[in-house]
Amino acid sequence: MIPIAKPLLGLEEAIAASRVVMSGWVSQGPQVAAFESEFAAFTGADHACAVSNCTTALHLALLAVGVGPGDEVITVSHSFIAGANAIRQCGAVPVFVDIEPDGFNIDPTRVAEALSSRTTAILCVHQMGMPCNVPAILEIAKGFGVPVIEDAACAIGSEILTGGAWQRIGRPLGDVVCFSFHPRKVITTGEGGMLTTNRPELDQMFRLLRQHGMSVSDTARHDSAAVIFESYPVRGYNYRMTDIQASIGREQLKRLPKIISNRRTLADRYRVALADIKGATPPSEPEWARSNWQSYPVLLSDHFDQKDVMQSMLDQGVATRRGIMNMHQEPAQADVPLPFPLPHTEAARDHTILLPIFAQMSAEEQVDVLTALSDALSDLNGSGRLHLVHS
Ligand SMILES: *Cc1c(COP(=O)(O)O)cnc(C)c1O
Repeated sequence: MIPIAKPLLGLEEAIAASRVVMSGWVSQGPQVAAFESEFAAFTGADHACAVSNCTTALHLALLAVGVGPGDEVITVSHSFIAGANAIRQCGAVPVFVDIEPDGFNIDPTRVAEALSSRTTAILCVHQMGMPCNVPAILEIAKGFGVPVIEDAACAIGSEILTGGAWQRIGRPLGDVVCFSFHPRKVITTGEGGMLTTNRPELDQMFRLLRQHGMSVSDTARHDSAAVIFESYPVRGYNYRMTDIQASIGREQLKRLPKIISNRRTLADRYRVALADIKGATPPSEPEWARSNWQSYPVLLSDHFDQKDVMQSMLDQGVATRRGIMNMHQEPAQADVPLPFPLPHTEAARDHTILLPIFAQMSAEEQVDVLTALSDALSDLNGSGRLHLVHS
């Protein structure tokens, strides 16, 4: 069975974690601090703050830019449900806008239509690692003074061309960028998240809120020669990452460039091979974007039943997933008002399948995936099969 995804973890991570265990300091401490500075250096952000996962990162990002009860946050429905859950946890309402007709990311022209006097933030998503058009969104938001948060849960190591230079996602184009280290993403700490920003006051707010709103960090109190009494100026949360997780994250960060180059090679091979498979369209990458290919979405022609294709591939030993979910089609978010039509959003979920992609995937495995897809489509189509050979 070829799985949809597989984290790349090895002895280095196991050794790093065991060192932390043996050190006796396992909660948020020196490893988290080191992971944060290495992550900031990698992305080019001024500040990086580690948290327990990307959902808590989104919650803190929204709170820190001032999202509160009754506010509107413009975002997509075509994304993981954590986005809307975090908005609603602030007491705010998501305003879902459609994605682009030829991709899976937010359509900036739809953002412009949705801006209102109640808009407090725009939450855009770099879906499946493909950078969304943040510069166009910033251009629209600028006139309204609305902060922009980037959900980069899947986009670690992806790049965007702005001002004539490539830069990594995470060096904030907007105000805050949120990342996930769930095993389904490109690097993992089991569970984990990170917030990057160039605004020091936001970084301070993240640090306060992730640790119960406590004025002094554990490390500062531990290291102090003088007695310190902490205070609690604001109500906070426990959204901390542990040092065990951070030590694994530091090793994962070292592997990241290789992971991304492998994934880009695999994506390129998929793109070339799919040109010969009728009924399945590969995703396109804008000239100004370099995806880390966290997922590889393939658009099926309308006459194929998505579930039948997936079942046929599963029967041939290949795991797939359907396209990204739509939050407005789930019971948990069914009470969110829908002021705008979402035709591309709904089509994307129902006509897309995700193919297996992971850094250690072999060329043979990839041929098996393509053969399974080709066979599924020709069986369901009643037409002749395509024969792929190992290159
Ligand atoms: C995975 C994901 C999240 C949630 O990340 P966790 O670390 O699991 O909380 C949020 N947004 C998007 C787009 C995701 O893909």
